Amino acid sequence: MPQRNSLISRLVDEVVGEHARFLEFFESYEQRAPDSIADFVAGNPQEMPLPGFVAALAKWTTPTSKDHFAYKQNDPEARAAIQRSLARKRGLRVDLDDIFMTTGAFGALSIAMRVLCDPGDEVIYLSPPWFFYRGMIRTNGATPVRVPVDERTWDIPIEKIDAAITAQTRAIIVNSPCNPTGRMYTRDNLDALARVLEKGSQRVGHRIYLVSDEAYSRILFDGLRFISPVDSYPHSLLIYTYGKQLLTPGERIGYIALPAAMPVGDRTAFRDAVTMTEILLGWMWPNAVLQYSVPELEELSIDIAHLQRKRDRVVKGLRDAGYELNVPDGTFYVLVRSPWADMDAFVEHLATQRVLVLPGSTFEMPKHFRISVTASDTMIERALPVFAAAIKEPVRA
Ligand code: PMP
Repeated sequence: MPQRNSLISRLVDEVVGEHARFLEFFESYEQRAPDSIADFVAGNPQEMPLPGFVAALAKWTTPTSKDHFAYKQNDPEARAAIQRSLARKRGLRVDLDDIFMTTGAFGALSIAMRVLCDPGDEVIYLSPPWFFYRGMIRTNGATPVRVPVDERTWDIPIEKIDAAITAQTRAIIVNSPCNPTGRMYTRDNLDALARVLEKGSQRVGHRIYLVSDEAYSRILFDGLRFISPVDSYPHSLLIYTYGKQLLTPGERIGYIALPAAMPVGDRTAFRDAVTMTEILLGWMWPNAVLQYSVPELEELSIDIAHLQRKRDRVVKGLRDAGYELNVPDGTFYVLVRSPWADMDAFVEHLATQRVLVLPGSTFEMPKHFRISVTASDTMIERALPVFAAAIKEPVRA
């Protein structure tokens, strides 16, 4: 018998280990957050929720029939609202049966990985990634394959993707606009990716899927319109969450959608697979009240113009102070280069000044930290002088 030294499954133990830096940082964060003067760590609300959101939930808590709170899979009205929205706002055609309600993008990604991967399969992800891609891939026994984005443009490095494709490749995860770089990939970049995936699929003799994490597709600045990877490559699983558009990540709702351009035989196979996976992972559908609210939620959004003003204030304030940073096309985040070689030490120094930012060591970027502009205007104004003073401190390490 192989020796076991842990109560925990070996796989879970390893996955926990991979996320050690995340867990360590968030332990200290939880102690510090209540005393902070500015909290830039997560895409969390720092102001009261949208009244329309509260009204929709309140409305749908009142039962309309005996089945109101019965076991619920994909609510037909929710599916119809999503289908209309994708068609009207993006010109994307999706069959009603190919929309699967999930507990946000977390649930959608987890289901997508479970449905696509066998142990030993490989999933390509772009680095810097969202924190949990590696863990979600590994939890399914598959192997994450890291491909760094181009550091000058933050674009997808097409040749490196081509080189990373092997007989084991099952999928690639693309997140545009990207957390944490803020980059929305161009149509040319996505078309080039699609060509490489098509060629790669033929070379290895099976379909390589694109998992398109579109959590921030409605968080775009400067009048930009969303460019979806799904429109370049039909063999894609579109992942969405309402948690960003509404800034309500504690009310878990989102979906997986398969484009009508995906071959119908493939879509049919996904339908049963997703349904069974949602059941077996623990009835992963969002609660009934949230699903009934989707037609209303579809029409609501946080104030993007205000978010853009906060982005502009942070970008200008930090640049004036001498920081190097990128200007995001979208998302909640500004990625800033640490003025100290020891980024974790700099983040710790800011924390002693009660300004909390997210260290890049939690997302494979040891020289950067991330600022979320979901922080309030007051927090931003309080923090800018702290940032300005911190960069004048003697460089440590
Ligand atoms: N993908 C990305 C890129 C994200 O930034 C997030 C939220 N931080 C998620 C997925 C998960 O979103 P949700 O919590 O709304 O499911």
